[in-house]
Amino acid sequence: MSYRIETLISKEELAKGIERVAEEINRDYGQKSVHLICIIKGGVFFMTELSKHLNMDVTMDFMAVSSYGSDTVSSGIVKIIKDLDEPIEGRDVIIVEDIVDTGNTMEYLMELLRDRKPSSLKLCTMLDKPSRRLKEVHPDYLGFTIEDKFVVGFGLDYDQKYRNLNYIGAVVFDE
Ligand code: 5GP
Repeated sequence: MSYRIETLISKEELAKGIERVAEEINRDYGQKSVHLICIIKGGVFFMTELSKHLNMDVTMDFMAVSSYGSDTVSSGIVKIIKDLDEPIEGRDVIIVEDIVDTGNTMEYLMELLRDRKPSSLKLCTMLDKPSRRLKEVHPDYLGFTIEDKFVVGFGLDYDQKYRNLNYIGAVVFDE
């Protein structure tokens, strides 16, 4: 099926939104160090851009997760593909995610990470699609709320492509 990609959030809007989120984090944490947990692969572009605007000491770790097949997404079963390298006990942790959709992934992950006793745990997401939410997940920091569209770019893929786009586009299938 043929499709095209329509710009949803331009490069400039995205940059402004990310700076705004960084300012909120700077204001809330002051000089307290933060430990960013990036959910790969999608969260990488957002985390690197966001972290450039943070003023406190920043450390980073990476985690890879996947939902079991699209037909079982609503079951909320999430598989850890790569765990963190370092313990998070006693640290001020911010999860950095590309997009929250049903909330299944983040509900599972936040519960798992809370059990590891961080001093605090917050969720920062570049995009939020609240219309499809199945779980009570509320991002603490949010770039943009979007409609129910399949989006690509700035880390987000379609069939592993388009992660490198410097804007957010919606995939539109031709009739
Ligand atoms: P959730 O568990 O909240 O339903 O799904 C979160 C994950 O689904 C995201 O981290 C992302 O990998 C994927 N996802 C959800 N919506 C989109 C979308 O519009 N585009 C892309 N590329 N991935 C999405």
